Amino acid sequence: MNTHNLMLIDPHIHMTSRTTDDYQRMREAGIVAIIEPAFWLGQPRTEVGSFKDYFSSLVGWERFRASQFGIKHYCTIGLNSKEANNEALAEQVMELLPLFVCKEGVVGIGEIGYDDQTPAEDRFFRAQLDLAKEVGLPVQVHTPHRDKKAGTITSMEVCLEHGIAPDMVVIDHNNEETVRDVLDRGFWAAFTIYPNSKMGNERMVEIVKQYGSERIIVNSSADWGVSDPLSVPKTASLMLEKGISIEDVRKVCYQNALDSFGKSGQMHESDWLTTTNVDQREKFSDNSVLRGGQTPVIGEIKADTALESNIVR
Ligand SMILES: [Zn+2]
Repeated sequence: MNTHNLMLIDPHIHMTSRTTDDYQRMREAGIVAIIEPAFWLGQPRTEVGSFKDYFSSLVGWERFRASQFGIKHYCTIGLNSKEANNEALAEQVMELLPLFVCKEGVVGIGEIGYDDQTPAEDRFFRAQLDLAKEVGLPVQVHTPHRDKKAGTITSMEVCLEHGIAPDMVVIDHNNEETVRDVLDRGFWAAFTIYPNSKMGNERMVEIVKQYGSERIIVNSSADWGVSDPLSVPKTASLMLEKGISIEDVRKVCYQNALDSFGKSGQMHESDWLTTTNVDQREKFSDNSVLRGGQTPVIGEIKADTALESNIVR
């Protein structure tokens, strides 16, 4: 994998479900910043307190954990479409959201949208769009895997209906069928690169060849399922190998994520361009990332070079 020391951003990855090995490999591959959308954890939640602790971990513990590996962590906060179908609980989650969306490092409302495209999903998607508008944050939209094209178009129409500007909305999980509609309407078009299925990175190369790099964003959406936290660096590397210019690769694997979510006012290039100090002896609520007998990484990490080669011990 050769990404010519490009700085990369993965704007959709669920690190709560990943390990410290992933953080380390991601940083070594050039990922300097990530965005973790609030999502469904596999096991349906039954209490509002579970959402509260989860949101707290996204703005607290996980942000700390990423920092221990030289990665800047941001998140989006929202009620995911799947759990919107538990309406009694969803109503309580809606009351919780305003307490979290203005916290440091929250760069949007997300991931929200449609899963099965039920009336309950529609109700809570709309309520959260109103919240996004009220607080002036970008929106990260999850599009359904079934009936994708119709669901994607509905998602955009509902955003417009709620008076949200297309450049404040990242439409996620696009494919060849949806990309034209999304770009033509002025929305950001994000693509999730899944290993062995759906959007592979070969297909992503073809999309960038055909549509260029304007408003196109690449992410991994790595989570607790079969997924790859190195999807962004691997795709960047393949694009360069296939003759896509370094400027275009930089846009789809870095700059566009920064330009879209940067509209939150919470994410600035200077956050990682200034030399990052890592001290793995640090603790968050009495916890460190180290286990017995391990040697902590302590030192400065410069943004444009890989982690291990750049540690000053
Ligand atoms: Zn996701």
